Parts: sequence; C-alpha cells; structure tokens
Amino acid sequence: MNEFELIKRYFTRDVESDDDSESTDHNDTVAIGVGDDCAVLNVPVDHQLVVSIDTLIAGVHFPKQSEAYAVAQRAFSVCVSDLAAMGAEPLWFTLALTLPNTNETWLEKFSMGLFDIADEYNCILVGGNTTRGPLSISIQVHGAVPSGQAITRSGAKVGDLVYVSGPLGDGAAALAMLDKRVKFNDEANEYFYSRFFWPEAKIDLGLKLREIATSAIDISDGFLADLNHICTASKVAAEICVEKLPHSQHRIDQAMFVKDDSLGIKWQQWILSGGDDYQLCFTAPAEANVEALDQHIRCIGKIVEGQGVLCTLDGKEVALSRLGYQHF
Ligand SMILES: [Mg+2]
Repeated sequence: MNEFELIKRYFTRDVESDDDSESTDHNDTVAIGVGDDCAVLNVPVDHQLVVSIDTLIAGVHFPKQSEAYAVAQRAFSVCVSDLAAMGAEPLWFTLALTLPNTNETWLEKFSMGLFDIADEYNCILVGGNTTRGPLSISIQVHGAVPSGQAITRSGAKVGDLVYVSGPLGDGAAALAMLDKRVKFNDEANEYFYSRFFWPEAKIDLGLKLREIATSAIDISDGFLADLNHICTASKVAAEICVEKLPHSQHRIDQAMFVKDDSLGIKWQQWILSGGDDYQLCFTAPAEANVEALDQHIRCIGKIVEGQGVLCTLDGKEVALSRLGYQHF
C-alpha cells in the first residue's frame, strides 16, 4: 500500500455520509479537505485562527506497546488542550504520521481512535502525510476565537486569584505506573490508565473563561513550571497554598505529606512538577464567581508583585526543594 492508498483508506471520510457522528456544525468551513495539495478553509467571520502543534514519539511520550486506539486518542487530546487554554473552539486538524511499517490492524485501530476522539471535540481532519520511520505522531489543531478574545499567558494582575480546573499529579502517576516504577491496586490502575490516554481537554471551560480569566495555560510541563510561564509573561509573582492543590491520591488510599512515606513524597513531586495533567491553570479577578463554572475548580492562591512562584504550606513559606520539586 503506498502513501496515497493508505491516506485514502484510513484517513479519508465522506462528509456526505449518513453517519451522524461524521457531521459537525461547521462542515461548511471546509472548502477543500483531505486529498488535494492543501486544505482550503473558511475562517468564521470576525474570528481569529488559533493554531498549535504537538508531536508524540513512541517510547518517549507513550509506551511503545500501547494500543493504537488509545495512542490516537491521547495524541489528539493533548494537542487540542492547547486550544482550551486560549479559549478557542476546535475546528480542524492535520496529521503527520511516521510509521515503522504498514500494519493494517494497527492503522485501522489508530484511525478509528482518531476519528472517534476528534468527533467528540467537533474537529475535522483536513490533511496530513505519512512517512516511514520510528513511530511518531504530529497533530496540528486549528481553532477559532472571536477577534481579540483569546486568553493569553500575559494578562494576570496583582490581586487576581489563581485557580486550577481539577486534580494534579494524575499524568505523572499514570506514567510511573505504565513504566512500572510504582504499583497501584486494580481500581487505581484503571483510573490512571484512563487519565493517561484520555485526558479531557477543557474546551468548554476555556470558552466560558474568555469572559472571566485574565490569563490561562494548560498544565503540560508541570504545575509550577506552567504557572511560572504565566508569571513571567504577566510580569507578576504567584503565592500558592500547597495544601489547597487538588489531587487524586485518595484513589490509592495513601495520606499526603507524610514525610517518611516515599509514595507521599512522589505525589508531591507529581502534583507540583509532574506535568501531563492537561488541567487549566488560570487567573481571574477576586470578585469573579469562578468556582460556579465547574465543581472541580479550586482556588489555590493569588497573584502578587514580584517574580516566580512562592509556595506556602499551612501558612508558612516552604522551599520548593522541601516539596520534592526538581528543576530540570
Ligand atoms: Mg500548552
């Protein structure tokens, strides 16, 4: 099977199909989709195009033996999460797939996983290419925001409160589990497996935050690193109450912040610097009713003058090294 046959068989869908799952409310934005040299797309009137790309490499970003269906879903989810952070609505995506060989069973499952997850986010595949080499997946997502309304990293103001959209540490805990560095019980295994391959991109929350948030970022590098990106871009500092950070440790029935408990220490590292959580970290004015937007949102600190991120534990300042934070 050559590249053209492969694309036609696994990555082309008939938009006129009767299958409801294949129709989105913006099919008419695609003038020319998969199959020509380029896609030709109609950007909605009075909107700006918001674009981001991510690459996932087998053995680096996911275990080499992962199921193709799950890998496709993770690749798409982590990429579309960047649109959530900017308050953009997903429209289209392109795919660059590097494959070690043409394994039709793998391709069938990968393409099914990709289209299933893209349908959930109402996002249309409009082009791509394939090459031969070690397995790697690049996805570029395109979204739209009403002109001038994208949420950026640079708008945090002194006095704003800092929020996260849900539990931190799950991504790193999941990776440790998949790499067999830690062992969880069956229930926790299932939870973390699903958190790794199906991290939910917070698109709906991102759209609501356009009216409220002064800055936002999705947590991919690690909570402290990503909040620090906001502080640097906004020329402010953040004061964080570590005990307020939401996490899922109860799922493996271990107490947190127990000094002689190595799992407790690992959890602190995972929460603060693990990354791969794809929650949103954002700032908003103190008077904004942010927690009403979603039951999982937690206020975890405030923006102050200065630079960098300062952590407190039960009201006392703590050095990041004491919390297990590792610079890299
Ligand atoms: Mg990001």
